[in-house]
Amino acid sequence: MQPREFDNELTYLTHKQAGEESAFHQSYEEAVESVRAELGQSHGMRIGGDVVETDSSFTVTSPGDLSLEIGEFAAGSEDNVEAAVRAAKEAHPNWEDRDVGSRVEIFQDAADIMRDRKYELAAALSLENGKNRTEAMADVDEAIDFIDFYSSELERADGYEFDTGEPTPGEHTTNLLRPYGVFAVISPFNFPMALFVGMSTGALVTGNTVVAKPASTTPLVAQMYVDILQEAGLPDGVLNVVMGSGSDVGQPLIEHEDVSGVAFTGSRKVGLNIQETFMELGKRGPVIAELGGKNPVIVSETADIDEAVEGVKNGAFSFAGQKCSATSRVYVDESIIDEFTEQLVAETKELTIGRATEKETFVSPLINDSALEYYQEITEQAREDGTVRTGGSVVTSGDPEEGRFVEPTVVTDIPHEHDLARDEHFLPFVTIHPISDLEEGIEKSNDSEYGLCAGLFSQDDEEIDRWFKEIESGMCYVNRSQSATTGALVQAQPFGGWKFSGTTGKFAGGYWYLQQFLREQSRTRVE
Ligand code: NAP
Ligand code: MG
Repeated sequence: MQPREFDNELTYLTHKQAGEESAFHQSYEEAVESVRAELGQSHGMRIGGDVVETDSSFTVTSPGDLSLEIGEFAAGSEDNVEAAVRAAKEAHPNWEDRDVGSRVEIFQDAADIMRDRKYELAAALSLENGKNRTEAMADVDEAIDFIDFYSSELERADGYEFDTGEPTPGEHTTNLLRPYGVFAVISPFNFPMALFVGMSTGALVTGNTVVAKPASTTPLVAQMYVDILQEAGLPDGVLNVVMGSGSDVGQPLIEHEDVSGVAFTGSRKVGLNIQETFMELGKRGPVIAELGGKNPVIVSETADIDEAVEGVKNGAFSFAGQKCSATSRVYVDESIIDEFTEQLVAETKELTIGRATEKETFVSPLINDSALEYYQEITEQAREDGTVRTGGSVVTSGDPEEGRFVEPTVVTDIPHEHDLARDEHFLPFVTIHPISDLEEGIEKSNDSEYGLCAGLFSQDDEEIDRWFKEIESGMCYVNRSQSATTGALVQAQPFGGWKFSGTTGKFAGGYWYLQQFLREQSRTRVE
């Protein structure tokens, strides 16, 4: 099968290539002003087309400016979950019955609205989760890409229904994939638009209805997307949104008897817990879970050191390392490790730490207080058990109340077996380890319970071939200075994990994603 042509949105790159970077910056900055003026409102849940308020609520503030209130959001309970699942269940038969084309049309209209409003969406995303402007736009672009790609795949596959002929005289047969019913969609804070949109579109476009729960730190952009879908004509009850903590709202949602499947992206602990809950309750539907990573990069003695330093720096420190794909351990050939480390340390010191909305910002603020505490804990541990080559401190110059800013951190002299080189931190923190050859690098890279992303810097074709064959990782990148491990694009670089980095072995934004939301039926009619 020949893969189809697909154009990614790539807003910033397109502007850059056209020499229109200043137009990009201006549009973004104007959008930040207009979004800021609208912040601080109250937002209810979305159940069956209604806005549902509750007695209790939670406040979201901007990670880069703690005095800036993003909004007040209704905090749900089990009763709200009950109502949302009921609405989704009621809406399901009609939604499944619609022909593929009419479902797809709604999503394509939604994607068009997002294109028109992409600066506003990116600005809201920056303010809500602290992602800098180019990355916030990439998050919105990815959401649009998911909609486009899934819509066109579903159409290309003709809704996964075809005639299987007359195997014996008089037997007329059809084979098709059908939705399960109601899906729960639970998304993380770090790609609040792309993952909320990607997972829910996967479930919805295939004919399931959804109850979604965004991360408690990023409910605003999810709300904005629901408004867009409503504008595009999504019927009431097809997508319902509950808000509140994982334990108060997420857990009852997973446990609800009418929830047939789950699409989850987040930490390994929560994801595996969902899978166990499903098994304990005897549920048979899919748990499509994308989990964490501890992404290794090998720098071979044949590597271009400038490229490797650039790739590791971007992979480890963009969005302050708060990416499942962040570069977190680097295995460098001992013949070049000093040169590599010195250069990485020097360049890391130059990175600008700051608010998401500042044009110069590279290292953005941390999402919440527990991330900040965890940073202090692991950097203290690194000082005790290894050598902190740069970083390791909370940035207190200026007003510390302003935001949760921390220094990007490079650590050496930590054994490969140490927890600091094994656990996912989700922080701007990278450890560097010596290796004597590629074999050792591959062995150590694979010595992990995770298998999400991996990188190699090498100029040797044999090394590259061997690495592709032996590395245990979902996404594998060679000589990628743009980023050693992050920044996958929909369709060309489908995203998912091996081992404990995912539960299904099928990747988001790829050709085998949508089928996971469907179950097969063969129909025979004798005439
Ligand atoms: P998280 O803490 O696991 O939370 C993810 C979502 O699960 C949130 O909406 C959270 O709600 C909810 N949740 C928490 N406890 C729950 C429970 N008992 N039942 C049901 N839902 C529950 O993850 P995060 O901190 O937002 O994101 C970081 C993690 O996501 C990292 O581990 C990262 O590697 C992973 N991630 C993976 C991918 C991938 O594609 N593989 C992509 C992005 C992120 P609250 O917000 O209310 O706690
Ligand atoms: Mg969390």
